[in-house]
Amino acid sequence: MLETRSLDAGYGRFRALFGVDIRVDAGECVAIIGANGAGKSTLMRSIAGVLPNAPEMILHQGEPIGALSAAAILQRGIAMVPEGRRLFPSLSVEENLLIGGQKRRGNGQWTLDSIYALFPILREKRSMPGTALSGGQQQMVAIGRALMSNPELLLCDEISLGLAPVVIRDIYAALPRIRETGAAVIVVEQDITQALRVADRVYCLMEGRVTLSGTPAELTREAIHSAYFGGH
Ligand code: ATP
Repeated sequence: MLETRSLDAGYGRFRALFGVDIRVDAGECVAIIGANGAGKSTLMRSIAGVLPNAPEMILHQGEPIGALSAAAILQRGIAMVPEGRRLFPSLSVEENLLIGGQKRRGNGQWTLDSIYALFPILREKRSMPGTALSGGQQQMVAIGRALMSNPELLLCDEISLGLAPVVIRDIYAALPRIRETGAAVIVVEQDITQALRVADRVYCLMEGRVTLSGTPAELTREAIHSAYFGGH
């Protein structure tokens, strides 16, 4: 459904990704793991159209999309939950969710009601400013906002960062329900155990290159360790 082909990306003269090839099939959950600075967020920003690329470096349904704008990518059904959540601080929870639905695709199943069913606490807090919520609740708003566009691919950038284990569990519990809608998901994770638990396939990035890929069953701890930290 989506693939990157020899994707190079960076910031000005600084190159953060070197020839990255990844693939996500319809309905699949793929995890991208790697240390700080490995290039995971850069990969997400490239796919989401936030960072411009050569058109043919990213294919969606076989069509080159690498040079499309973020708005055009969203219209194609690819939505991102950005690192750091980035809620609109002056807007309420509900307004933040509604903004996610402005570029809504078709008659998909995500509505305010189904988001509130997924994360009931958000219904209780719907009139509060997003920034008055706890970190975990803000993360739920960020996920809900992305879902409101009815994506077929959801990009989740470090959704567990800085959250307590019990909160991380609640957030990850939403993933199977998101996948029941048929959506594919890419999760960027520094927590390897979490990534292996949820993903159908895993890619490890190190210094802007894919150093390992496979199903969780195929990957040994040793192989992951050397792909993540560098081999010795
Ligand atoms: P993290 O877990 O820290 O977010 P990451 O794997 O997501 O790490 P990226 O954020 O993609 O890594 O960063 C890859 C490289 O690009 C790093 O060397 C980083 O310093 C650099 N970088 C990231 N964002 C920018 C930017 N806006 N301008 C310049 N360099 C950047």
